[in-house]
Amino acid sequence: MTNLDPHPDEQVCAAGPAADVELVEPRDVPLGGPRAMTVRRTLPSRARSLVGPFCFADHYGPDDVAATGGMDVPPHPHTGLQTVTWLFEGAVLHRDALGSEQVVEPGQLNLMTAGRGICHSEEATPALFPDRPVLHGVQLWTALPESARHGERAFDHVADVPTFTLDGAVVRVFMGALGGVASPARAHTPLVAAQVDLPAGARVTLPVDASFEHGVLVDTGDLRFEGHDVAPSWLAYAPPGRDVLALEAGDTPVRAVLIGGTPFTEPVLMWWNFVGRTHDEVVEARAQWQAAIAGGTDGLGRFGEVQGYDGPALPAPELPNVRLQARER
Ligand code: MN
Repeated sequence: MTNLDPHPDEQVCAAGPAADVELVEPRDVPLGGPRAMTVRRTLPSRARSLVGPFCFADHYGPDDVAATGGMDVPPHPHTGLQTVTWLFEGAVLHRDALGSEQVVEPGQLNLMTAGRGICHSEEATPALFPDRPVLHGVQLWTALPESARHGERAFDHVADVPTFTLDGAVVRVFMGALGGVASPARAHTPLVAAQVDLPAGARVTLPVDASFEHGVLVDTGDLRFEGHDVAPSWLAYAPPGRDVLALEAGDTPVRAVLIGGTPFTEPVLMWWNFVGRTHDEVVEARAQWQAAIAGGTDGLGRFGEVQGYDGPALPAPELPNVRLQARER
């Protein structure tokens, strides 16, 4: 075989930055309240809605809890999603409608599966944790597929997540499987989530599932991901088709969170704390929550009740005057 093209294009074969990697810039989002925490959000963003089933990514801290007041989120509802709480520093107390009352600390996973409906509160105040002055972590959501989004609510706490080391990197696998270890956390579509710690100057080639798309959210340090520099709080995205990912630390250690999964092909409509498919589903969920917190009973069966939180539940915001549109890939 020979190339019969009389004017062949020059081809450069040296390894360089992968052309298909997307970089997602974070935006600051105040969570509300008088001394509210501000989070850095990369999912959803204008350019990218999903990485596998992950539809939401907030990165926060390190925050001086005494100065900000920490986190005090009253009972609020969720539908059609999982909340994934993963900390680098501090502690958060979670309570939910299943009666769960669980503190999560760094290296541990709190995973709440909403199914058709659940409500929960989250607290990380100086009064609650006086010896935890700094709060620092991520909150991720996964969209549940049709087969699970109408199902039972559930809560999982994983105290010791499986961990492996590779080329000097320490990898804590809190959801899915990676590097021959697997998290016991429940998942409803093929996915992975892991904290990756690289010493300064380290380079790791991480074997991954080629059917997955992946995102890397940088917490600290200067990361090179597939040849691209990724700044702290930015998300780098790589489409399916790779069986390895190259991560390299600069002059300082890197801490990052890897997320991924098979591309989620169902439409996703996110509004406030609800993940659904249609405008009418969201309107119904909102009405049921508002009825429940007004003392009615319509919504109680759907979302249940949080016991033990000191204060009223969080009312839903007003719906916009337009029909909400689902996002499709
Ligand atoms: Mn929540």
